[in-house]
Parts: sequence; structure tokens; C-alpha cells
Amino acid sequence: MDYYYKNRYGCKVFKVTLDLGLSCPNIDGTKGYGGCIYCKGGSKSALNKELKPLKEQFDEVKDILHKKWKNAKYIAYFQNNSNTYGELNYIKKSFEEVLTYNNVVGINIATRADCISDECLLYLEDLNKRTDLVIELGLQTIHEKTSTLINRGHTLKEFEEAYKKLKKAKIKVVVHIINGLPYETKEMMIETVKYLNSLKIDGIKIHMLHILKDTALEKMYKKENFHVLTREEYIDIVCDQLENLNENIVINRITGDPIKADLIEPHWLEKKFTILNDIDKELKRRNTYQGFNLSILNRARLLMETNLKNNDLVIDATVGNGKDSMFLLSIVRDGYLFGFDIQKDAINSTDRLLKENYRNYTLFNTGHENMYNTLKDYKNKISLIIFNLGYLPKGDKDITTKSDTTIKAIKDSIKLLNKKGHIVITIYPGHDEGLKESTKIKEFLNNSSNLAYKEYHNTDNPTAPYVINIKKNK
Ligand code: SAM
Repeated sequence: MDYYYKNRYGCKVFKVTLDLGLSCPNIDGTKGYGGCIYCKGGSKSALNKELKPLKEQFDEVKDILHKKWKNAKYIAYFQNNSNTYGELNYIKKSFEEVLTYNNVVGINIATRADCISDECLLYLEDLNKRTDLVIELGLQTIHEKTSTLINRGHTLKEFEEAYKKLKKAKIKVVVHIINGLPYETKEMMIETVKYLNSLKIDGIKIHMLHILKDTALEKMYKKENFHVLTREEYIDIVCDQLENLNENIVINRITGDPIKADLIEPHWLEKKFTILNDIDKELKRRNTYQGFNLSILNRARLLMETNLKNNDLVIDATVGNGKDSMFLLSIVRDGYLFGFDIQKDAINSTDRLLKENYRNYTLFNTGHENMYNTLKDYKNKISLIIFNLGYLPKGDKDITTKSDTTIKAIKDSIKLLNKKGHIVITIYPGHDEGLKESTKIKEFLNNSSNLAYKEYHNTDNPTAPYVINIKKNK
């Protein structure tokens, strides 16, 4: 979020949190009582507390943050409870008031999917034309069972309907989710993120569940002692979630900071910055990033570049448009690349692409089943061989790799590998010949005791492309 705002406004932008003293439909009895079980905002003391005038609230926060950032601009952030739930005139008056404050560049409004009336939406649509408006919708989880357990009080369908209405009005939407809700598995938490990614939300806030004093959740925890995520589990899950989020989705938060005096569990949340740092470190260790898992080609590239040295000899067994060859040559600058393709056009266009920057390659306009005969002098000398099977994305689908020749090429190519050498194959079982290749390659590998292999999938969809990495057994 920090990068996003700096890019947009050319300076530091911080959020000034404001309280309108509003309630929630599942606090006041409209939908239910007590609010979400983890929330303290529904308590009598929170709702009845004396509110300072908006300007006073604003200046107080702004003055503190200004000590750290001198030339910053602000987002007025209406955070507590549901800030579109209440007397519309009062709400409008408050939003309009903050727009008159100096250097307020936008307004973020936290609310629930079930409290944006049609009248309110019309107003927000107009407001959106006058300021940088973001609606923050609490969802927490897509799983109805958990939703009921936490007394959320609205369904996923209601969320989706409200989301679509906001997007139709061209309003940006940031969605809040919570990791570690009682009895949710890692897979369930990742599913929530995959769903949000498919909706193309604008931003996300990821929280770790706080178990706070004097909440229904505290009682449930003391009675049922459900599993609370460890710090390591949380970091692992967040990294997996980030890998499944499109790079355009702005990460507004990946951990929260609870008031220490209220916190029952988990205490590791108290050191927010060390968690942020360790999420960074884990991504670095994995060599991945936000959106990594959305294309299997990222995994293929990562496998290709791992352990590859600048003087290695490599083979691209299916040159195609030359993008993979180009990638490999950017690493083996003092090494050499051999490329194969049966299509003359593919060889010519790849040559045009590569020769602008490189000289250290030779392309052969012949099938990879001839690779061993062509390169026998390089027996035991090749560090990496890649196969990107199938047909060219926009090309003739009949000119595709074929299982029989692919298997022959793979078998032969083992002899060319040096000690650290390996083969990276991207397979597309979504078309008939690709499925045949997939089955035959695995059959061959399972019968080859001298080879070790690992499969990498980025979805559960059996027809989606996947990658195999093959090494010789020591
Ligand atoms: N890696 C390429 C890139 O970065 O653009 C894309 C490769 S494309 C999916 C598959 C390519 O394999 C096609 O260009 C096709 O002509 C080629 N091909 C098909 N049969 C082949 C064979 N027996 N030997 C070598 N290449 C073959």
C-alpha cells in the first residue's frame, strides 16, 4: 500500500483513523446481537463512549503521524464498525466535512456488504467522482460454516452482490479477511484468497485472528481450546496467499497490532514488524512473490534458474517464439545455448530475437528426437534441458509436440546431462496429445530407477499445465 500511494501521489500518504460512533446490524439486533464473536466494538463501553468532534479526532492522529512524516498527505479512514450503517445525512455530512480538510486525498470507508442501501450507493457513486474513494468490505472467510460460527450475519452471496454493485459504480473495493478462524484449515484460508483474486478486488487486508478479552471468542477459546495458528504457520499461509494474489491487488495489511492489555492469544502478534520482516524473508527464501502461483511458467522459470551458472551449457528442446531461450541466455552469458524446433518460422523469429543481444547460441531446425545425434559431442556436459511442450499459443494447433518423439528425446537427453544436470518439462494435459504426453512421461519416469523427479502444480485442475523437474539419481 505504501508503494501504491507513493506512486499515485508522489509522497507518503497515511491513514487517519476516525470514529463516527456507528453500530453494526449484527450488534443492534437488526441481524443479530453481540456482533462477530471476535469483535470488541459491539461492547456497551465501545458504543457509548464519548465521541470527540471529527476535526479534533483528525488533528490528534495527524499530528502524531506528522512527527514521523513531514510532507505527507492523508486518507480519512472511517474504521470502527459499519460506517455506512446509520442516518445517511449524518454520514454524508461527516464525509463531506473531511473533504474540506487540507491535504486529504481520499476517504476509506469500512463497512459490511449488508449495509449499503441503494440510496447510500448513489451517494457513494457521486462521492467517488470527487475523491479517491475506497470501500473496505469485511468478509473474513468464504466458508459459510465458519461464517455462522463467528456470527458474521451475512452470506457470501450478499457479499458478492454488494461487491458487484460497488464495482458497477466504479468504486474501489478492499476486502478484509482473517486467518486462523476457529477450525479453518490452511487450504480453506487459501481458497478464500483464490476466490477474491478471481473477483479482481482492488486491495486486501489480511488479519490474524485476535482473541480478545471480554469477547464471545474468548469464551469459546477457553471452552474448546481450538488451535491458534503459530507464528510460523501464519507466515507460511500468508506467503501462500500472496503467491495466489494478482500483482495489481494492493496489500493493505498482512498483520494487525492488537492492544496488548486486551490480547489473550496469540502473543506473537505483539511484535508486528518482526512478522512483516519474516514474511519478506520467507518469500525471499522461496524465491517467489505476489502472484507467483498464478502462472505455472513462473515455477518453470524458477526451476530453470536455480543453480544455473553463467558459463553453463543449456538446451531449449522446443524453441517456439524464443522467450525461454532468451531467458536462459540472460543467465548463461558466458555459456552456450542449443535450440531445436521443427518449424522454420519459429527458428527464424527466435534467431531475430536472440541475435540483437547474443552470439553464444546455435538453433537447429529439426525435431528434438534428433537432439542426441546432433549433440553427441556434448555427452555429460549439459547443465539444463528444457521442454515446453504442445503448440505455439497463437500458432497452428496441429504442429504440436508428439508423445512418441517427446519420450525418445527425453530418454536420449539424459545422456547429455552433467552431474548437476536436470530437465525441466512444462506439460499441457488440456489437449489430447498433451494428455498422452503427460501419461507417457510419467509412465517412463516411474519405470526409470536411475531418475528422480518432482511434479509442480499450481491448481487442483487436472487439465491445467504443470511442470516436471527430472534429475539423475546419484
Ligand atoms: N518455449 C517456447 C517459447 O518460449 O516461446 C514455446 C514452445 S511451444 C509451446 C512448443 C514448440 O515445440 C512449437 O514451436 C513447436 O513447433 C515445437 N515442436 C513440436 N514438435 C517438436 C519436435 N519434435 N522437436 C522440437 N520442437 C518441436
